[in-house]
Amino acid sequence: MSEELKPCPFCGGKAEIIMFNAEYGTVTVGCTNEECDITMGKAFFTDEEAIQHWNRRTNNENN
Ligand SMILES: [Zn+2]
Repeated sequence: MSEELKPCPFCGGKAEIIMFNAEYGTVTVGCTNEECDITMGKAFFTDEEAIQHWNRRTNNENN
């Protein structure tokens, strides 16, 4: 794994890779803080893609 997930841009909580759709094998990234509980709401086929997208989003909120 070459890239690490940055903390949640909203609450600073820990982020993690979560299953987006088990049938298609897609993943997304979400915040582990239950009170925040945001996810990217977008599916990726590899962990790396999801991580890159998440990290880019934490740097730049224009999505
Ligand atoms: Zn959060």
